[in-house]
Amino acid sequence: MTPDQIPAATTPIPHSPHSVARPAIGGGRGGKRQPRRMPPRPNQALRPRSGSAKALPALESGNIRIIPLGGVEEVGKNMTAVEYEGDILVVDMGFTFPNDDTPGVDYIIPDATYLETNKHRIKGVIITHAHLDHIGGIPYIMPKIGNPPLYTTLLSAVMIKKRQEEFPQLPALDIQTIEPHQHLTLGHFKIRFFTVTHTIPDSFGVIIDTPYGNLIFTGDIKIDTKDNIPVESEFKTFEKLGKEKTLLLVAESTNVEKPGFSYPEREVQENLRQIIADVPGRIVIGTFASMFERIVYMVQASENLGKKVVIEGRSMRNNVEIAKELGILKVRKETIIPAEQIGDYPENKIVILATGAQGDEFAALMRMSTKEHKHVKLKKGDTILLSSSVIPGNEKSVQKLKDNLSRQGAKIIHYGIADVHSSGHSYQGELEWIHKMLKPKFFIPVHGHHSMLRVHADMAVRLGVEEKNAIVPDNGMVIEIADQGGRIFAHKETVSSKVVMVDGLGAGNVQEVVIRDRQALAQDGMFVIIAMVDLKTGQVRKSPDIISRGFIYLKESQDLLRQVRSQIKKVIEDSTRQMNPINFDYVKNAIREDVGKYLFQKTHKRPIILPVLIEV
Ligand SMILES: [Zn+2]
Repeated sequence: MTPDQIPAATTPIPHSPHSVARPAIGGGRGGKRQPRRMPPRPNQALRPRSGSAKALPALESGNIRIIPLGGVEEVGKNMTAVEYEGDILVVDMGFTFPNDDTPGVDYIIPDATYLETNKHRIKGVIITHAHLDHIGGIPYIMPKIGNPPLYTTLLSAVMIKKRQEEFPQLPALDIQTIEPHQHLTLGHFKIRFFTVTHTIPDSFGVIIDTPYGNLIFTGDIKIDTKDNIPVESEFKTFEKLGKEKTLLLVAESTNVEKPGFSYPEREVQENLRQIIADVPGRIVIGTFASMFERIVYMVQASENLGKKVVIEGRSMRNNVEIAKELGILKVRKETIIPAEQIGDYPENKIVILATGAQGDEFAALMRMSTKEHKHVKLKKGDTILLSSSVIPGNEKSVQKLKDNLSRQGAKIIHYGIADVHSSGHSYQGELEWIHKMLKPKFFIPVHGHHSMLRVHADMAVRLGVEEKNAIVPDNGMVIEIADQGGRIFAHKETVSSKVVMVDGLGAGNVQEVVIRDRQALAQDGMFVIIAMVDLKTGQVRKSPDIISRGFIYLKESQDLLRQVRSQIKKVIEDSTRQMNPINFDYVKNAIREDVGKYLFQKTHKRPIILPVLIEV
């Protein structure tokens, strides 16, 4: 695909947090660092992108707009708006977890400014399944966009409601439960659904009917296969859809770079059952709480093998409760036992399901590994099964977890040595099969970093989509289908696609300066200067006090401190000479600048400098 055929973003690339070398925070201090340029480089991940200044042209009747608002420059925070005849439909509303570029932040949510501005036109929100990268943004975004009706299947509805309980201050959501075979009309949108295989039940894809063919959104999807051939039920679903005309396919790209087919979940489950049956003693199984189907299966299989199950980790316990409530999991009351009763049963009758297989600091598995778990003390004869992959970025903490577990004599089985985990997202082979079955005219890859989306677009072209008809989006790009379904293009005008952070109790409005301060603090610490200044003469009384954290060890830097003190005195007295009354803000700035330069010269570090001037 040549660059001129791919509509360019109006903002420069790269701007994804991951395309920027991350600063070494709390580590990577081995070698001597190069002195940095004096003014801090603006954090590229935080560069404001408020959409283009020029107004977006009004949407012509008959044309359709697709606006990815999140999930196309990252894996996570999925949200897409569709616009037709003045109506807006939103598909998914996720969040993502922060990275090194956003220290201390809880979550990152899609920028919903465009939806806020046009909230009177929103006819509904469709949630394809209950994973956090599809529902996480709901409590933060829904109130801002007028709380439009939300449509989803039963399990997702229950999980969304459960999560919403943590936000009692918010207005109740208007959740409408749908059946996958149901048809829905919202304003000018005619909508149908199709069930998809994923790692959580009740997942579905979305079909929007237009006079020119279907718009199909896969949501998160894998294809259930046997010997790399899709099973009958998958074949039927896609054969039926393939007989209709697919105008546009919007498909996920999470695993587009992995060749072949993902390992079928059915076979993972059978392997897990075999291991649970064969272990000589206790078994602790660590997995993601999001692996809903697998967790349900393991509880059921353990009961069938006459074992008791302990569930450790709040999110996992919640999910099991919901599965029981909805009849997805049917187990006897006495199968699931509290952790304190572990000792009441023979060791080979105990199965412990735990969160924290990613080495998460406070999760159950980590506490077991550091001997801090109240009821589970590991020992020789125990088996630990890590039924999960390692999410990129977590390698170190997972290794630490494995080391700690192994030190206690437990045997570890992980996905590197046995087929005990499989992804819920299609590999290349499955995606190719979906393209071949649906034969779309237009294609937009979603859910992935830019390079992944491009690989997916290339695949679509290889399989028959015309080059000009495959569009690699950025967040905030406005893609339009025009000329009665004859043409697809991206507007040069974009809508706002800033990095919106949820931080503590504040939803959505962390200032960039706060994040930059956190980064600077983590990198170079802080340096507080307290000086008493005579209001009349501008003279400094006594020697200024200095407090520093995370910068240099003061006790061993007496020389430097002496020089800094005398410099502070000089700056204050020089700048206040002839100044009446004294402008303290001006003096503070002068201190910051002078002392900052001096410390940088001497240490090649740039701590945050906080001058405190006491007027006497
Ligand atoms: Zn998912």
